[in-house]
Amino acid sequence: MAGPDTLDDYREKRDFARTPEPPGEHGAASGLPIFVIQKHEATTLHYDFRLEADGVLKSWAVPKGPSTNPKEKRLAVPTEDHPLDYAEFEGVIPEGSYGAGPVLIWDRGTYRNLTQKDGQEVGVAEGARRGHISVWLEGEKVRGGYALTRFRTGKGEAWLLVKKDDVEADPGRDPVADEPRSVVSGRTLAEIAAGAGHSR
Ligand code: MN
Repeated sequence: MAGPDTLDDYREKRDFARTPEPPGEHGAASGLPIFVIQKHEATTLHYDFRLEADGVLKSWAVPKGPSTNPKEKRLAVPTEDHPLDYAEFEGVIPEGSYGAGPVLIWDRGTYRNLTQKDGQEVGVAEGARRGHISVWLEGEKVRGGYALTRFRTGKGEAWLLVKKDDVEADPGRDPVADEPRSVVSGRTLAEIAAGAGHSR
């Protein structure tokens, strides 16, 4: 992994003797970059949207989850970089630990980076610093172009996740409401919570 270790925040927030989450000791994967969307019932329910970039998962918490309707803007709050192997995590973060609650792999797949500035390709990690990322997702539930764009608020900054108007756009779908289960195990969050200890 090149450059500074951006997983310091991630590790500082967690006690790996207590939580089944990975400490992130494994290096970068090969092949196409991956994305994952993890449904996480912590203090509040949200969807963690993560894109592989520079050997880590760039991460945003999306309270309402992604939409397939280009007219729906979804708030996306940046969170700390996560290790690549976090994309495999599904299970229960125990009481008393950071982010306590069940997590399921709501969608996953590979993506292509479409981020540009003045006609030049911009890497996703660079796009995260500059405040704009454009990707094409190849997931099981969520596909096609999505834009993540930073904006300023009175309190600081936030981002919006918006579906691009392309062949995969579909205002008639609502995968967050209609497709709640894990794409890996088929379980719901309640089933994962009930099977605490049975993490994978
Ligand atoms: Mn989360």
